[in-house]
Amino acid sequence: MSEPTVKQAHTFKAEIKQLLDILVHSLYTEREIFLRELISNASDALSRMRLVMLTEQDVLDPEAELAIRISADPEKRLLTIEDTGVGMTLEELDENLGTIAHSGARAFLEATQKGTAEPQNLAEIIGQFGVGFYSVFMVAEKVVVTSRSWRSEAQAARWISEGGETYLIEAAEKEDRGTRLEIHLKEDAAEFAEETRLREIIRRHSDFVAYPIYLGEGEEAVNTRKALWRESPSAVSEEQYADFYKQFTLDFEPPLLHLHLRADAPVQMYALLYIPAKAERGMFSLRKEDGLKLYARKVLIREYTKDLLPEYLRFVQGVVDSEDLPLNVSREMVQSSRVVERIRKVLEGKVLGALKEMALKDGEKYARFWDEFGHFLKEGVATQQDEAARKKLYPLLRFHSTRFPDQWVSLDEYVGRMKGGQKAIYYLLGEDAASVQHSPHLDPFRAQGYEVLTLTDAIDSFLAVTLKEYEGFPFQNAASADVSLPKEEAEAEEETPAPEEQELTPLLERFRAVLGERVAEVRFSRRLRASVARLADPEGALGSEMQRVYRYLDKEYEVPKKVLELNPRHDVVRRLASLPEDEPLAKAAIEQIYENALLLEGLHPNPASMTERIQQLMEAALEGREKEG
Ligand code: ADP
Ligand code: MG
Repeated sequence: MSEPTVKQAHTFKAEIKQLLDILVHSLYTEREIFLRELISNASDALSRMRLVMLTEQDVLDPEAELAIRISADPEKRLLTIEDTGVGMTLEELDENLGTIAHSGARAFLEATQKGTAEPQNLAEIIGQFGVGFYSVFMVAEKVVVTSRSWRSEAQAARWISEGGETYLIEAAEKEDRGTRLEIHLKEDAAEFAEETRLREIIRRHSDFVAYPIYLGEGEEAVNTRKALWRESPSAVSEEQYADFYKQFTLDFEPPLLHLHLRADAPVQMYALLYIPAKAERGMFSLRKEDGLKLYARKVLIREYTKDLLPEYLRFVQGVVDSEDLPLNVSREMVQSSRVVERIRKVLEGKVLGALKEMALKDGEKYARFWDEFGHFLKEGVATQQDEAARKKLYPLLRFHSTRFPDQWVSLDEYVGRMKGGQKAIYYLLGEDAASVQHSPHLDPFRAQGYEVLTLTDAIDSFLAVTLKEYEGFPFQNAASADVSLPKEEAEAEEETPAPEEQELTPLLERFRAVLGERVAEVRFSRRLRASVARLADPEGALGSEMQRVYRYLDKEYEVPKKVLELNPRHDVVRRLASLPEDEPLAKAAIEQIYENALLLEGLHPNPASMTERIQQLMEAALEGREKEG
């Protein structure tokens, strides 16, 4: 038979050339991961084959076992990896291993050059850039890939490269379906032709690959292939949970929590979920997106399934496997499926339950969880329409407070130590932890010993808009004009009586004259204690939470004019009132009082602009001292 011989020499794309250069010449550590990459490619090809067989009638070798076989010949320094996956045609070989510019190659090179990754980690993460195949050139002086596609009419083909500038593609002979890699090892990589070494590497990096990996003539798979999530939790060790997580995510920090569950009603499923230690997916992570791995009867249906948990729990990683999902379930079906909806309900309940338990049993660990993931739960409260669903999250919320500025306070703790007669849960929104603690709005609360929750996250304004009540106590903004504290009136009487307000009224006029249109009104307030002044919302104005929400959503949004409230008992105010009218210092002091109040509200557009005036005031103060002395 005269076979049409297509023999073509090709040149690698520039990025691939550079990539190869680095792999061949500079990466010596962690070389063993090339095997993980090749096994993972074989496993991908097998998974694709499994899906093809669900829909196609006419496939080559329909009876072949879906498996990977690895054999080694130490004499020849030859390592062979074969799979019965989808295989590749000549065109596909060219596309996948050669001419197509892999965008990942460039990204990988950038990571190398910027030094974002340590050289020893580079090899580790290569798979993430979609160029894992080339890692074989860390150990190979020559690679021959022979492949035959599952399409029965396709011809077998071969790809050959020595890791230099070029590769060769030609038609080949191969009877059975799948791909065979012959790896001619470099002299210093002879260890990878030793079965014991190979077994060790497979166990370490590829134990959970879903298909059997046979070694040499062996008839028993080297990998345990455990669908760990289908095991009984009592049969799984902590170490196995940790190993699975590591192989699954490449996250080297152990997870904060794992959750292994099995349900039969209202839906059949197995799930193994993890909460990572960090919210940010490290650049080494194998998980490129949010979402859980979804299996239907052990077959991987979707790698990143976002509908299995409510959005605010998207930081949870893991695997879900259900007998109730049809194998040929499509993407759209996953989204609309009743089964998926039930799974979501069950999983949400379990995750929240596990968090509650963590909070109860290990407060320190829960604090770490809250530091990393607290804003996700706040988002959950802020975005859920249903009050009942929101309420389930309330016990998990944590805040700083005036009493515990550096600790996390739960609503239960807050309510548990409320003063007798306290009718509400007080909170105050602020820009940052430091300024909120100095807010003049806190004066009456501090004076009377009421604890106030301090909310300073960007998302907190959204949260505050939705918070209604907890354990029968409404949430109240400490800055709002209509909070009244139980004993406020009575206590105010006992204090040093404020000077006759009539005496001070001219001062209000002076403030009005200086500040003009910048404020809605200037008035006295008996609520202030240690502070000179505060900015309050005029009656009928949008609550300050909503103002913040608007400001957050729309940078152009102008905060409505505020009322400047002065503390008639404060020395600064009294002295100011007694200054002669034409005293230039008075105007500067009025401006400064106003701008200080702006600053404490987080509303000052340009704090640096105050320095000149502050200097002027300092000079005046020092001058006064000299005169006295
Ligand atoms: P990735 O696996 O991230 O796509 P690789 O560089 O590891 O990147 O592989 C490149 C491509 O080569 C794969 O996407 C796949 O199409 C093809 N390929 C590699 N190995 C095999 C194999 N054993 N069987 C079939 N196709 C393969
Ligand atoms: Mg790969």
